Amino acid sequence: MQFSTRAIHTGQAADPSTGAVTPPIHLSSIYEFSEPGVSKAGYEYIRHGSPNRHSLEMCLASLEGAPEECPALCYSSGMAAIDAAMRLLHPGEKLLLARDIYGGTISLAEKLLRPNGIHVEYGDTSDIEKFSNAITANTRMVWIETPSNPLLTLTDIAAVSRAAHSVGALAAADNTFATPYLQNPLALGVDIVMHSTTKYLGGHSDLLGGALVVNDPSLYSQLLTLQKMTGAVASPFDCWLTLRGIRTLSIRMQKHCENAASIARFLQTLPQVRKVHYPGLEEQPLFHLAQRQMRGFGGIVSMEVDPDRAQRILRKTKIFTLAGSLGGVESIISYPRLMSHSSLSEEERQERGITDGLIRLSIGLEDTADLIADLEQALED
Ligand code: PLP
Repeated sequence: MQFSTRAIHTGQAADPSTGAVTPPIHLSSIYEFSEPGVSKAGYEYIRHGSPNRHSLEMCLASLEGAPEECPALCYSSGMAAIDAAMRLLHPGEKLLLARDIYGGTISLAEKLLRPNGIHVEYGDTSDIEKFSNAITANTRMVWIETPSNPLLTLTDIAAVSRAAHSVGALAAADNTFATPYLQNPLALGVDIVMHSTTKYLGGHSDLLGGALVVNDPSLYSQLLTLQKMTGAVASPFDCWLTLRGIRTLSIRMQKHCENAASIARFLQTLPQVRKVHYPGLEEQPLFHLAQRQMRGFGGIVSMEVDPDRAQRILRKTKIFTLAGSLGGVESIISYPRLMSHSSLSEEERQERGITDGLIRLSIGLEDTADLIADLEQALED
């Protein structure tokens, strides 16, 4: 079955007890046993598993190309999913992260992992040879995000996976910006795919969730055990909402991509805009990589302007909402320095190219002409 069909049907058969085509939300935290130690329908207790979570996990695994024996693992947030993956690390082991990644991931690495004895290092993935050289014998995990937040840099997923595997390390990719509609890291060799389902998968800015998808049954069972113990699982309602969002993922992503490409091209024509970051622009250095590993270029565009102008733009847009997230149907404007990457020090931000003039746009599904007109008036002197 093709992607859009699986998004609508996998894990989503009509409810056998009522025939309901839209799945009911099972709020029950406990499930009946037929006899001691034997559950009636495969569910026991909500932390261990529940019907809405199970449906979402089957669907997401299918969309990411994981085998049936490895359903996705769904968490209460994207950060909980990242935390779960990082629990595979032990003191003394190295975690090599791409430099340009979500600020929350950097905070977790710096404030939780480093003090607990994990060797945290960063590398610039645009020079894949140099990055690969930093993967040494004690490296246990390599973490990439492609396209990245907020600079939309791309990482060669297959090359990083090969380099990680050469020393027996795990390769993990945050696929939040691309979604499985545009990119499947497992097929390119990655061991762990991570999602903040809060973003495009949910798609309507009304839920919080995260997921890990793997294709190795023993890694899956390790993560499942950790998940049952630590318990940061997605709630039935959030799973239901996420799956509802996923049903329209393909059609939404097509329009996000189309709108974002038009806006990126429009911004390039403006003298006030110093630089436009969008993986789908042919003149971007990694455009060929984008073509090779993605099926479309996504809905996020970043631009660099003069810092004073940035402050004015953030206050002037009328359709773009000033908010800290992305991936919803509505267009969002955000300021990484004080929002997604505010937990980093000034020095860490400078090192990563998160300047005072950098603005991130999550392009929604509104009419392109209205979005362009809004940006045009906000960018005017
Ligand atoms: N990864 C990326 C790329 C993100 O943009 C975010 C949140 O903005 C996260 C992870 C964390 O996800 P959540 O906010 O669902 O915890």
